[in-house]
Amino acid sequence: MNVSQTCKIEITKSLVSKINAVDFENLSFGSVFTDHLFECDFKNGEWQQPVIKPYAPFLLDPSSRVFHYGQAIFEGMKAYKDGSDAIWLFRPDENFKRFNKSAVRMAMPEVPEEIFMSGLNQLLQLDKAWVKKGSGNAMYIRPFMIATGGGVIANPSTEYKFMIILSPVTSYYSGEVKVLIAEHYSRAANGGIGAAKAAGNYAAQFFPTNLANKAGFQQVIWTDDATHTMLEEAGTMNVFFRINDTLLTAPVSERILDGVTRKTLIDLAKSENINLEIRPVLVSELIEASKNGTLKEIFGSGTAAVVSPIAGFSFQDIYYELPKIENTVALQLKNKLTSIQNKLEEDKFGWTVKI
Ligand code: PMP
Repeated sequence: MNVSQTCKIEITKSLVSKINAVDFENLSFGSVFTDHLFECDFKNGEWQQPVIKPYAPFLLDPSSRVFHYGQAIFEGMKAYKDGSDAIWLFRPDENFKRFNKSAVRMAMPEVPEEIFMSGLNQLLQLDKAWVKKGSGNAMYIRPFMIATGGGVIANPSTEYKFMIILSPVTSYYSGEVKVLIAEHYSRAANGGIGAAKAAGNYAAQFFPTNLANKAGFQQVIWTDDATHTMLEEAGTMNVFFRINDTLLTAPVSERILDGVTRKTLIDLAKSENINLEIRPVLVSELIEASKNGTLKEIFGSGTAAVVSPIAGFSFQDIYYELPKIENTVALQLKNKLTSIQNKLEEDKFGWTVKI
């Protein structure tokens, strides 16, 4: 993957940096942004001159399609700084491909690779002082695209804005995570937009997740919409289960986001000789395994938290507690992955890309 600098970007630097006002020891995930942003508009059927400029609010027409019909997609990825101050992206090609897959599904124009990669590269170069070294530290990168064309008429916009913003983050600890298995609400359906990273997928989850929060659960594990018998994924994570010594995860489908961390953990598990099955996982087999003591672990995988162990789950008002295990597969895979991302271990897979 060529994270090139070939695209000519017009750069306007900010006159003062906000960096000294930031407490990097106490960052709340996704709430602090760097000095600059990348922006490229789509108009008259083509991408316009890309720019990098000071991070600031911007104006949109109240009739912009994004506000009314929700044409909005995004990505989430991270960059890391190694011991010699070089900055590395992790599998940026995967995020790029998924971004354009989302764009196609939402009837939005695809972003050329050169614009996406040059934007990432040059924005990170400009704000590189904001990327901190050390385990857990990373730059969370949020590329996104919105429909900016005006008109309250329900058809696709002809104008769009593609942007990249950067948010420094420290290691993400979500505390003890208890999950509720969905029995009524669904995140996605066959033929729908579940496999796209579309803004509406997240809005649709907020209400049922709020209900779960009120009942004392941090996340919902979504099940298939038709039968609610197959375990699919969580809010912003794919899910893995360990029954005896076998790791299980659902195959990706039209209803499930094809997570970069998920596919990375699958490759790592294979290279660590961990038994792995990619197949539909049933709620009934999870309950059975919990009852007979063979259910050892459940964990989520995603860019933000990397791996997030789950303490227990509830289904039909019964709570099933997971055993407390010292040397979990979750931790083994997390350590392996973060060592590769932080360049502490050789990346024999070629996942890390220097900018
Ligand atoms: N599922 C959903 C719905 C998500 O939003 C995310 C986060 N992008 C994931 C899974 C995990 O994907 P990734 O590993 O690429 O972050």
